Amino acid sequence: MIIIAFFLAHWFVSLFSQTFFMHRYASHRMFVMSWGWDRFFHLVAYVSQGFSYLNPRAYALLHRLHHAYSDTGKDPHSPAFFTNVASMMMATFRRFSAIGHDREVVEARFDGGYPRWLLLEKIGDHPLSMAFWAVFYAAFYFKFATVWWMWLLLPAHYLMGPIHGAIVNWCGHRYGYRNFATKDQSRNTLPFDFLTLGELFQNNHHRQCTRVNFAVRWFEFDPCYPIIRALAAIRAIRIVRPLDVDDSLPADAQPWGVPVEA
Ligand SMILES: [Zn+2]
Ligand SMILES: [Zn+2]
Repeated sequence: MIIIAFFLAHWFVSLFSQTFFMHRYASHRMFVMSWGWDRFFHLVAYVSQGFSYLNPRAYALLHRLHHAYSDTGKDPHSPAFFTNVASMMMATFRRFSAIGHDREVVEARFDGGYPRWLLLEKIGDHPLSMAFWAVFYAAFYFKFATVWWMWLLLPAHYLMGPIHGAIVNWCGHRYGYRNFATKDQSRNTLPFDFLTLGELFQNNHHRQCTRVNFAVRWFEFDPCYPIIRALAAIRAIRIVRPLDVDDSLPADAQPWGVPVEA
């Protein structure tokens, strides 16, 4: 029971960090927050992603490339160019790592507007940090796993971020329905996206990528959206992007997140 609770907590808090902090905040700048809240959510991202901590700068740059070149040959992770999800994720990892370590220089127009905390970024990327999390996950299972099959869940803790990325990038551009005739292959995979907290509304998101609510139609629900509204209500964040679809925008408009004044 404790193992299942630990697995679900890790799944959803890590996912929240990805969709709220890395995607909607770092990549698209949908809301702004004070220095203190920025550091707080960055710390939550480090702790929850743990072994598979994602650098927000590399995440934002890679993700803006995905929007600009979605499902073309320049897209960092389009399922249209890979025969299986593992090869797509390996290619994504190589690209992410190249951008993160400045081996690949991204065009200046994609740069800026993402949070930086150099010390934490360095710690998150360090082999000692990865070793700590690796031992922590294994020790937790050693202490609390009561049935053999629980151990089957252990590898997922090491690959939490990449697993979420694989589900979203593969399924969200391959399976599901479309509300908008975007130029890419984006799809909405689940009308109630309990699995990835709204990330699987790829078609809605690609239609207007700065829109805060990823759900559009009456039967769709984006679980991260009420959380964002609640954080805005208690003034932890300030939403600076549209809540609803702006039909005056052309279908291929891509305001992926140039810096917004705080
Ligand atoms: Zn996409
Ligand atoms: Zn996006």
